[in-house]
Amino acid sequence: MVPTFEYAPAPESRDIARLRPSYQLFVDGAFRDGAGESIKTINPADETPLAEVSEAGQRDVDDAVAAARRAFDGPWGRMPAAERGKYLFRIARAIQERGRELAVLETLDNGKPIKESRDVDIPTAAAHFFYYAGWADKLEFAGFGGSRDPASAGPAPRPIGVAGQIIPWNFPLLLAAWKIAPALACGNTVVLKPAETTPLTALVLAEIIAEADLPPGVVNILAGGASVGEAIVAHDGIDKIAFTGSTDVGKSIQRAVAASGKKLTLELGGKAANIVFEDAPIDQAVEGIVNGIFFNQGQVCCAGSRLLVQESIADEVEAALQRRLSTLRVGDPLDKNTDVGAINSAAQLARIRELSDSGEAEGATRWSPACDVPERGYWFVPTVFTNVSPAHRIAREEIFGPVLSVLTFRTPDEAIEKANNTAYGLSAGVWTEKGSRILAMANRLRAGVVWANTFNRFDPTAPFGGYKESGFGREGGRHGLEAYLDV
Ligand code: NAD
Repeated sequence: MVPTFEYAPAPESRDIARLRPSYQLFVDGAFRDGAGESIKTINPADETPLAEVSEAGQRDVDDAVAAARRAFDGPWGRMPAAERGKYLFRIARAIQERGRELAVLETLDNGKPIKESRDVDIPTAAAHFFYYAGWADKLEFAGFGGSRDPASAGPAPRPIGVAGQIIPWNFPLLLAAWKIAPALACGNTVVLKPAETTPLTALVLAEIIAEADLPPGVVNILAGGASVGEAIVAHDGIDKIAFTGSTDVGKSIQRAVAASGKKLTLELGGKAANIVFEDAPIDQAVEGIVNGIFFNQGQVCCAGSRLLVQESIADEVEAALQRRLSTLRVGDPLDKNTDVGAINSAAQLARIRELSDSGEAEGATRWSPACDVPERGYWFVPTVFTNVSPAHRIAREEIFGPVLSVLTFRTPDEAIEKANNTAYGLSAGVWTEKGSRILAMANRLRAGVVWANTFNRFDPTAPFGGYKESGFGREGGRHGLEAYLDV
């Protein structure tokens, strides 16, 4: 055990979140109670209730889709593109202004460490609105269906219409921004459903949208569970579905929209390989491995959940990793010193436990640093499995938790074969000093994003999306516009 500094607790005040006892749906520019039951959202760090959230029913879905259609056919559809952009800039600035409130609220609702919601989730959400605000009046230069040469730009491509957007709980506000910002920049209107366990920041975003004075119906936010998602997917008035979530639900949505004429993009699960070659700077690589799998408690679709390490340095990397993990602070997500927060829900915790137990049962070696976790709440200490074989469930299935499976390789070919030996294909990481090796590996890895000597970097200008069972379509960057344009 390496010595660590002992810090006094430094919790962010939960008053900043301006938590209210109840939250309503946002339909046609107004807040209202939904026709469904109300949902209790809880703080996963201590299991105490945070607020009651009104759930949408079929009537609310119908009203939201009708309002979105009226806005698309009316004021929003007729608005000059430069004016649309101004609304997006306004939303971006308001997210920044209410950044601390949103960060604390996100941490309370999700369980992620405050330093992540404060430094990653909320600033990146604002950055998405800023980035796509800039595109709103430049779509004819985006190069869809024509030249990317500004001198020979064609007419601006047309929006699709009403987009139904369904998101999961791991980056609640950030994923709402990923979905809403490009859709609006292209001139669409939206009906968005946040996840049932983390609806709060999306509903505060609805307040921001109302204060930004967007025409009613341009953005509608419906809280609720799977049945609300199904109603959005099935609705005749929806032109496009954008879904982020699990591969199983993604497949069921693909079946549901088949032959309906609805456009579809799917951002699904992952089982990324983080590949460390013997010439890599080990200390930096260890930081990248830790960030890759313990950021957001590993509840990240592109998490580096499989470490592929070259055999000649495997012992050294494993020892360095154990030393580093022994310094991670697990605990109160509102404490600014916390590195690893709470798991989002009891159901997710049960899944992580079940898969980790299978790792031991199948013969892998389990290790975790000694650390105390709070008595109440959903906690899982950072865990590393060595002696993992590619056939083990922990090497094949997405755990979506702070669990790393370590495999070894001898040659670049073997690394590629093992990295690509997965049903998924969302992301990968390569750690080496050789630039030529980075390029060669990136060309052969079947992953939508390949990070070199870094991991889990999110930038609104960079496209993000998967191969195989990780889905199709790209979000972010110029590519992210295509999903919302009739091209
Ligand atoms: P999930 O698929 O269970 O739920 C995601 C959303 O879909 C929620 O809002 C849920 O209410 C809704 N939903 C559930 N069933 C539905 C149905 N039949 N029809 C319509 N909507 C339905 O996923 P989850 O457990 O909340 O999230 C974790 C998953 O999300 C992981 O697999 C992760 O990899 C994936 N994810 C992917 C990305 C990406 O960009 N590729 C990003 C974040 C998370």
